[in-house]
Amino acid sequence: MKKIYLSKAKNQIARHNTIRDINRQIVLNYVRVRSPISRAEIARETSLQRSTVSAIVDDLQSLGYIEEIGTGDSTGGRKPTLLQLKTGTPVAIGVDITPRETTIVLADLGGNLLQKETLPTSPDLEYMNEQILTRVKALADANEGHDLEVGISIPGIADQITNTVLYVPYFQWVNWDIGHQITRATSLPVTIDNDANAVALAELWFGAEEVKRTRNFIMVMISEGIGTGIVIDGEVYRGENGAAGEFGHMYVGENAPVVCSCGRQDCWEAHASEKAVIRRYLTNGNDSRSGMFDMDHLLRLAENGEERATSILKETANYLGIGISNLIIGFSPQAVVVSGRIVKAWDLIKDDIQAFGRRSIRQELSGTQILPSALGDTPTILGSISLVLARKFASAS
Ligand SMILES: [Zn+2]
Repeated sequence: MKKIYLSKAKNQIARHNTIRDINRQIVLNYVRVRSPISRAEIARETSLQRSTVSAIVDDLQSLGYIEEIGTGDSTGGRKPTLLQLKTGTPVAIGVDITPRETTIVLADLGGNLLQKETLPTSPDLEYMNEQILTRVKALADANEGHDLEVGISIPGIADQITNTVLYVPYFQWVNWDIGHQITRATSLPVTIDNDANAVALAELWFGAEEVKRTRNFIMVMISEGIGTGIVIDGEVYRGENGAAGEFGHMYVGENAPVVCSCGRQDCWEAHASEKAVIRRYLTNGNDSRSGMFDMDHLLRLAENGEERATSILKETANYLGIGISNLIIGFSPQAVVVSGRIVKAWDLIKDDIQAFGRRSIRQELSGTQILPSALGDTPTILGSISLVLARKFASAS
C-alpha cells in the first residue's frame, strides 16, 4: 500500500502512460524473458486480444526491438511464428565514468556491446566534457535513425530531475550539466545516475537468475571505494537528492589501513575497499611497489596460493561481513549482491563474509542470501547502459 501524495498524483496524471504503452511494455517483457514465444502464447498468458498483441508486435518490430525467428510447433492450426529480442540494433549509448578511465559504449537491447572506446579520466572537467560530448555526438550521428538514448554512470551524485551531475568527490566536480549539453547536441534523452545505483539496475535486469528474481536486494560494489545500491520492490531507492546508499561511509571502526575518500579513517570504505586491501598487503612490505601493484595482481597471487595475499583477502572479507551484516539488520533484504573484482576470490572470502552475516542477525531473520555478482569485471559499463535499457523495459507508471 502506498500513500498518495496529491502533489505527486498531479504529476503522474500529467505524464501518465496510455494503456497501450503499458501493454507494449508487458509484451516486450514477455519477449525478453520468455523468448522464443509466439503472439498466440503472449495473448493467452496476458489475456490481451490477439489483434492487440499483433499490433504491438508490429510496432516493436518496426522499432527494431524484436524479430521473428522461424516457426514453432503447431497446436492444431497454422504453425506459430516465434519472436525474440532483436540483437545488433543499437538502442543505448553508455558513458561510464570511473576515477581511472571513462568508457563510451554502444549497446543493443540485450545489453550486448556493439562498440566500445576508452580514455583515461582526467581531473580537468572542461577536457572531459569536450571528449564525452564529441564522442557521444559521433556515435549518435553514425547511428541516426535508431531509437537511441544515453545513460551516464558517475562516481558521485546526480540530480535526475535537472539531469545534472551535482558532485563527484574524487575530482571535486560540481554542478556539471553534461545531460543538457548532450541533449542539445544530439536531441537524445539522457539519464544520469550514481555508479552504484546504475550497477544495482544492471543486477536487476541482467544479473544472475537468483538476483533477477528478488524484488528487494542491496548491491555492494567494491572498487576504489565502496558504493551501495538499494533496490526496493524492483526499483532503485535514490533518497532525497539521489544521495541514498552512501553506506561506504558508515562507521566500522578506528584505524583503518587507509584514509577514506571523505577524509575520515573509520569508514567501511577505509576498511574494505580495494585501496584498503592493497594497503594491507603493502604494509611492512615493499612500499616502492605501490602504484604498480593493483587488485588484479593481488588476486593472482592469492589464486596461486600466496599466503599473505590469501590472509589479507580473508581479513578484508571480515570487514565486508561487518558492513553487510549492518545492511541486513537495517533492511532485511532478500539478497545482498557483492560486485567488483574481489568477487574473483569468492570461494576464498565467502565463508568469512557469511560468518558475520550470520553472527549479527537474529536467527529467525537469517534468510538473506549473500551472492557474488555475475556481471563480471566492469559492472559500471553495464550499469551505464542499464540506465537506458531499464527505461525501455520498465513500466513508468
Ligand atoms: Zn568515508
